[in-house]
Amino acid sequence: MNGKIDKKRIAAAMNDAYGKFRDDSSGKNADYIPYLAGIPKDLFGIAVCLADGDTLTVGDTGYAFGIESVSKVPTAILAMEQYGRKEILDKIGADATGLPFNSVMAILLENDHPSTPLVNAGAISACSLIRPTGNGRRKWAAIHGFIEELCASKVSLISELYESEAKTNFNNRAISWLLRNYNRIYDDPDMSLDIYTRQCSIGVTAADLAIMAATIAFEGRNPVSGRRVFRPEISPCITSLMATVGFYERTGDWMFSTGVPAKSGVGGGIMGVVPGVMGIAAFAPPLDGAGNSVKAQKAISYMSEQLHLNVFGAERASVECECRQTEPA
Ligand code: GLN
Repeated sequence: MNGKIDKKRIAAAMNDAYGKFRDDSSGKNADYIPYLAGIPKDLFGIAVCLADGDTLTVGDTGYAFGIESVSKVPTAILAMEQYGRKEILDKIGADATGLPFNSVMAILLENDHPSTPLVNAGAISACSLIRPTGNGRRKWAAIHGFIEELCASKVSLISELYESEAKTNFNNRAISWLLRNYNRIYDDPDMSLDIYTRQCSIGVTAADLAIMAATIAFEGRNPVSGRRVFRPEISPCITSLMATVGFYERTGDWMFSTGVPAKSGVGGGIMGVVPGVMGIAAFAPPLDGAGNSVKAQKAISYMSEQLHLNVFGAERASVECECRQTEPA
């Protein structure tokens, strides 16, 4: 079949996925961060953002939930913008750990870099690199502002989530100081951890994540604002990181069955990038054992199959729509 799809087909697949999985009650909210345990578990939303900035939505796509590990993606992009791809590859790396997101063992196994910016160790290390260094307030402003540019909307810290996570993040404290021991953290370890904890506590909607994913899919040009947010050559790098480790120890299974490079967060969000085609996001709080939203995975998988989104497929989908004017780089 020919891979051309249009908005009508996308909306139909999205509505079908919503109807099919809405009542699925498998999985369990994250509870190691107390705030997340209390989020209504029936929330469910799906969003797709296309090249012309049109954002199609169904369900709870206006609800602001904790971005959690999806925030590792914008910070990795910003680190590549500031330092170049090669230096991030050298300082942090791009290899899947095959281990859980918060693994201390992964740090011990690799003796010269933290593996990838998409697990906790590499993400804390990436936070330490973000310029300006030595100034937590300005570093935070840089990350927060960059996330807003990627989403084309204002996003705020969920203070209750930040406090809940800051009070209970003992494992991440150990990671931060272990990185310090191996000279893999490039700013104050406590401040770098605090920045990481803050970025995980930002509230985003599924629509925001679809727009962020679309900005990656369209090589750093945000299709909603029309602004160039990062250099085009960074897109394939961040997409490959998502494809190799976006679901931690379950990434291989995900790519094998779905073929959509995606990143999950324990807040229940998943953001998927189909290069040149769309950004796709889904949100539902209950998670599987690796910390990936069960319903969001099912929704994106279903849509990938219906719309031929698998990036390894020869007949991959293409969407016809007019692109908005881009700002010069
Ligand atoms: N803030 C969470 C943590 O560090 C993020 C984990 C996740 O979303 N996988 O534990």
